[in-house]
Amino acid sequence: MHFSCFKDPDPEPEPLLSNRTGCVFCNVTHDKGFDVVYEDAELIAFRDRWPRAAGHLLVIPRTHLGTVFDLRAEHVELVTRMKECGLALAPGATKLGFHIPPFSSVHHLHLHVFTPPFTALGRMMYPVHSRGHGKGWSWFVSADQAIAILQSGARIRLGASKR
Ligand SMILES: [Zn+2]
Ligand SMILES: [Zn+2]
Repeated sequence: MHFSCFKDPDPEPEPLLSNRTGCVFCNVTHDKGFDVVYEDAELIAFRDRWPRAAGHLLVIPRTHLGTVFDLRAEHVELVTRMKECGLALAPGATKLGFHIPPFSSVHHLHLHVFTPPFTALGRMMYPVHSRGHGKGWSWFVSADQAIAILQSGARIRLGASKR
């Protein structure tokens, strides 16, 4: 009888989740036409191709993560870093946040960082619910709201979240 306590070695190491086929944000490089302003081992920041404000940056994790729906409590640190990175690059930024699907053009997590003044379209496209707790029914969630929701153990949803 063949008996072995050894498991076959992994045939192939789990591929990094980055470079997901067809995901444009998995391929953000200067060569691909992105206006990269900052990058490190974890994050990349670049100017939005269609700026909706005087300053409009996107900060993304290098590793593929879907949308805000995929975020959990374990991502609080990452979202906090994304926010801090955005503020460091754009000290005058007044609005930092995420689209909520289906109002998201690219399904690779990206933080929008806006420095005013906004364009008319920009004001419409990124409404932040500012009364009371939580993000309300808006389709845009600020970085602080996202962090608070995740810290409470809840998930970000399209509907109103209490916190
Ligand atoms: Zn991606
Ligand atoms: Zn977006």
